[in-house]
Amino acid sequence: MAQRHLIIGGGTAGINAIRTIREEERERSEIALVAAERPYSRMVLPYYLDRSIAESHVYTATPRVLADWGVTSRIGRRATALDTQAGVCTLDDGTTLEYDDCLIATGSSAVRAPVPGADGRAVHSFWTLEEARAVLAGIRPRSHVVLVGAGFIAFTILNSILSLGARLTIVEVAPRILPRMIDDTGAGLVARWLADHGVTVRTGVTLTRIEDAKGGKRLVFASGAPLACDLVIMATGITTNLEWLQGSGVGVNRGVVVDEHLRSSVPSVYAAGDVAEGRDRISGEAAVHAIEPTAQEHGRVAGANMAGKDVRYRGSVLINIVEVCHLDVASFGAWDDPKAEAASGLMADRPAYRKLLWRGDRLTGAIILGPSSDIWTTNDVGMLKGLVQSGVALGRFKAHLMAQPFDVKPAFIASRTTSRLLDETILGRPAKAPGDTPVAV
Ligand SMILES: Cc1cc2nc3c(=O)[nH]c(=O)nc-3n(C[C@H](O)[C@H](O)[C@H](O)COP(=O)(O)OP(=O)(O)OC[C@H]3O[C@@H](n4cnc5c(N)ncnc54)[C@H](O)[C@@H]3O)c2cc1C
Repeated sequence: MAQRHLIIGGGTAGINAIRTIREEERERSEIALVAAERPYSRMVLPYYLDRSIAESHVYTATPRVLADWGVTSRIGRRATALDTQAGVCTLDDGTTLEYDDCLIATGSSAVRAPVPGADGRAVHSFWTLEEARAVLAGIRPRSHVVLVGAGFIAFTILNSILSLGARLTIVEVAPRILPRMIDDTGAGLVARWLADHGVTVRTGVTLTRIEDAKGGKRLVFASGAPLACDLVIMATGITTNLEWLQGSGVGVNRGVVVDEHLRSSVPSVYAAGDVAEGRDRISGEAAVHAIEPTAQEHGRVAGANMAGKDVRYRGSVLINIVEVCHLDVASFGAWDDPKAEAASGLMADRPAYRKLLWRGDRLTGAIILGPSSDIWTTNDVGMLKGLVQSGVALGRFKAHLMAQPFDVKPAFIASRTTSRLLDETILGRPAKAPGDTPVAV
């Protein structure tokens, strides 16, 4: 009898797993997909919001692709329970599905600040396509939009809101913006850049309630003046979608705890993406990395192992890259490691900043920001990411980079990082071009 794989969740991790199972299996298996939403990429939603792509372009695996892959889909259905002893998953319509192995790829959901009015009219999250549609419908030219939360997700949609002709205010409870992505120096530069581009930023303010006011909204804070606006977007964090696994016996911590094969505490159950707590490549410790590259890599590795391969995962590297009003801002790896040796550089004539963090002669973390119009900013974002990802020993180039953090190219070229990264596919085999996917029949 053919192996029966069940994939729960149709986001980046789930769809990458399906594709990889079909690429790697020797004999055609049965694949069932249960997904609460049609498969699409959340990461492209900012481009849908600024209307640079149509809604049809956010979808990843269309019904046609899933049919070509021979996947039995239950789209719009939610898994509500997992009986790992019997190998049965129950859905929200009472249907049960039997599996031989399954992948939990249910991602995460947006969380709103717990204040009165947080679920009121014209108050939105921005995590799902449905929420993106609602925000797009609610913003008019000259609308005043308030973003609550100044983290990475808020910054991914900042340009799109401005490009719709809206005025923007960002409010943040922490004393500075991007508290989990860059350090104080970097945050100060970004805050000044935003002010120069007409974005108002209020940090260190605690939102206490959101009220209706004259056709618009009013935000009230623990101290300081209230703020009137037309629309509120809460970018106040996310939580892993784990609650449905209660009683399943699958070990969870902040996410589903997985080993180097992306297997959970129950051998026939794998987990991948935002919902999984896997290994951080730099620290070696367990971490939930709610980012696209981790979801992709987890999905590929889990899929290969479900197809019968033995692929070990080296762990994921934290990667945050965002562009705000033509300022590139990025951080990689252990950018806030207090025990690392660090060197930084700041340009006097422009908002350009680098911080490099070392363990021995390996770059283990980096912060970089600078105007996108400086070609070296964009190049260095890529090169620093490569140096952290590859973990290459930089030998005498360490001293050079410590003294000249803006001169990354010599170290990148001399260390042959490109050829190292080209060789390194996540499945440990040569990369295949799109269309070359050998689908077992
Ligand atoms: C606006 C925005 C911008 C972003 N930008 C970036 C970026 O620039 N870089 C970056 O690295 N990351 C970015 N991200 C984060 C990135 O999109 C996520 O890390 C990624 O989507 C995680 O993939 P996933 O497959 O683990 O989860 P998801 O993509 O969330 O997919 C989970 C799927 O599971 C389904 N599901 C949930 N519960 C159930 C259930 N019980 N039963 C069945 N199905 C269920 C959901 O409907 C969904 O289809 C962004 C996210 C957003 C919202």
